[in-house]
Order: sequence, then structure tokens, then C-alpha cells
Amino acid sequence: MAAYLDAVPLSGIIRIRDMMYSVPNPFRLDQGDVSFDSPDSVKKAMVQAIADNQTHYLQTAGVPRLRELIATKLRDKNRIPVEDTEDVLVTHGGIHGLYLICRALLEPGDEVIIPDPEWPPAAGNILAARGVPVGCPLHEAAGWRYDLDELTSKITDRTRVIYLNSPQNPTGGVLTRADLERIAELARERNVWVISDEAYEDVVFDGEHVSIASLPGMYERTIPLYTFSKSYAMTGLRLGYVAIRDAVIRDRAKKLLFYTASNVASVVQFGGIGALEGPQDCIETFRHELRARRDLFYRGIHDAAGGTFSGQPPAGAFYAFLRISPAAPKTTGSASWEMVEHLIKQGRVGCVPGVDFGPAGEGYIRFCFARDRMELAGALASMKRLFGTAFVESPESTTDSRLLSADTH
Ligand code: PLP
Repeated sequence: MAAYLDAVPLSGIIRIRDMMYSVPNPFRLDQGDVSFDSPDSVKKAMVQAIADNQTHYLQTAGVPRLRELIATKLRDKNRIPVEDTEDVLVTHGGIHGLYLICRALLEPGDEVIIPDPEWPPAAGNILAARGVPVGCPLHEAAGWRYDLDELTSKITDRTRVIYLNSPQNPTGGVLTRADLERIAELARERNVWVISDEAYEDVVFDGEHVSIASLPGMYERTIPLYTFSKSYAMTGLRLGYVAIRDAVIRDRAKKLLFYTASNVASVVQFGGIGALEGPQDCIETFRHELRARRDLFYRGIHDAAGGTFSGQPPAGAFYAFLRISPAAPKTTGSASWEMVEHLIKQGRVGCVPGVDFGPAGEGYIRFCFARDRMELAGALASMKRLFGTAFVESPESTTDSRLLSADTH
């Protein structure tokens, strides 16, 4: 019986997406999608793949050239000692990679320590693999990082995995090298695995991105997880990858990859080759623009609704995770859901309630600032109308090829 799946929640982000469809001219600051277009290197490679009739079944683990390029990237950029291209499995986006790893690693009842708050599919995938997510709070005052003694106290005899996500969704917290060294020591001492979700590896504004799999002796007990979605603006194309040194776990994951996808879409894999072989300057261009949008959004929100929301600009990722003022009007139930419903229904501004990311997220709200400047400015103007303070910010140039008119929202 698969009745246990009835208890796996569907993320509230989906409920919001459905609400947004009934909103005329919405500002889509709810979902974590970048407004950038995929680079030409990706598009050209996909067009060429179609012209070359690359439309047939492929190797389950991925096209050899793509796996080779990924293994080289993991060694050179992430400093992970991947000796064999066989370690790499190409997946249908990062979310599929996480599904495969959870199913390949967990026995029913195994505990996985996850950050609280956290991207909902982390808990969802653990539950779908019959594991038990155990939340460990991230602390706003520490830049949304762990209290490492508290993290240590969460480990029990049933702990099988620590799931890390840095830079983090929804808070934007970035774990430091020192944090990761302590967590690595803990994982070795207590003999637990680490899943390292590095979906936002290229979106760091302050500090550095370090993969825990690069630390001494850690790759053998860490499964790093990546996606092309954020770094190359390929969210809808669905391309991600994991690297698994342990042959037993990898074989299990490979079987699941076969049974869930057979192989990732051929044309998309060629797009991935284009991304990695092509110029890498889009990564820096995107990061630069995202920093400008972060700053625009934080200046704007302060002016538009400073009394209602507070919080510091994040060190990484592209979300503003803001505390709702306790003075904000509310009736009963969840403060963050009430605020979201108000913003969507009265202001046409999409956003996600903090509680959807875990109990520690109650009282917060998440806005995605990876939308283009016109859309951000429109959302801020709408919030100014709702919250009644002055906000004037004219959007400047943008790297988007598609400029939305504020009137269309
Ligand atoms: N991990 C985190 C923390 C994310 O926020 C996301 C997407 O939003 C992913 C992984 C997976 O992204 P995708 O499935 O688009 O590759």
C-alpha cells in the first residue's frame, strides 16, 4: 500500500501558483524562477541537436560528453575529488536528483536533519522515501546559519543524513567554511551521510561558496546535488546532476533514474553541453544583475512597507525572507498566510508564507527578487499603495531581453 504518500504534503507554493492564475496582471514574486533567458550557447546547442536528429534514447546516466564536462566542473570549480566520470548521474532537474538520492539512501524511519525553514521539496522527498525530516533552526541573527551545538544535539541513533542547502532557499543564508568544517567533523564522528544541495552555488553576494564534498574525506560520505536551473537560467528545461562515489548507492540511484525517466530528454542534455562548453560570463552577469535587484528591492521595500516588513539583504540566493511586523493586523490562524492572501488579493503581488518552509518560518514571508526590474518596481508600487508610504524608484537598464511594462501587471 502506498497510503503513506497521503501524508506527504504538496508544497504551499503550488497552492499559491493556483491562486496566482486567478489574479489579473500579477507580479510573480512567488516562484523561484529567474527572468533571464537561457544563454545562446544553450539554445544553439539544442537547435543543433534537433537538426542532428538527437531525438532517440540515450544512456540512462547521461550523454558521455555531458558527464565528462560535469566531472571536470566538479573537480575544477567545486574542488570535489571526482576521479571517475561514472560517479555522475544526469537528472531531470535538481528536484529529481534529490528524489533519487533520498530513495537510494534511506530506510523507512531513518532521520534526516534539514534546516528550518527550508525549501519544501526537501522534507517532501524525505517523506516520500519514508524517512523522517528533523528540523534544525537557522538563526536570523547569525545570518540564517546554524547554532552548531544545536545541530549536534539533533543527531540521534536514527540519524542517517544531514541535508545541507547553502546558499539557502528561502533565507539566503550562506554557511561559512568554518561551519562546514565543523559539520564535516560531526558527520565523520557520527557516521552520517551528507546531502549537499548546491542549487544556488553561483548566487553568492557576500562570502564564498564552499562545497562540503571538497573537504578532506568528505566526498565518500557526501552526495552533492546541482542544477542548471539557476546558473544558466534553464528552469523549464529540467537539467540537474548528482555525483555519488559509493557504487552501491549509485547503482540504486541509477535504477531509479531509469525507472522514473529512462534518460533525461536528449535535446536538453545537449543544451547542458552547450552551457558548459560555452562562455561562462552569463554566470557573473546574472549575479551582478541579481545583486542590483536585491538592492533595489530592499531599498524599495523599506520605503514602501518599512513598518510592515524587516530583514537584512541576504548573502546568497535570490529571495527576500522578511519578518512581518507583529503589529501588522491579523485575525486568527497563520500570520504569514494571512499576509500572503492580503498581498495577492489586494496587491496582485505573489509571495510565499514563511510557514510553508517549516515552523521556524512562521511570521515571515518570501519574495523572489530574480524577477526583472520592471516587475519588481511594479510590485513595490503596489505594496506602497497597500501599506501607504512613499516609494518612488525608477527601473534602470536591465539585462533582460524582455522588458515588462508595469502597466501589464
Ligand atoms: N534545491 C533548492 C534549494 C531549490 O530551491 C531548487 C529550486 O528551486 C532546487 C534544488 C531544484 O531546482 P530544479 O529542480 O529546478 O533543478
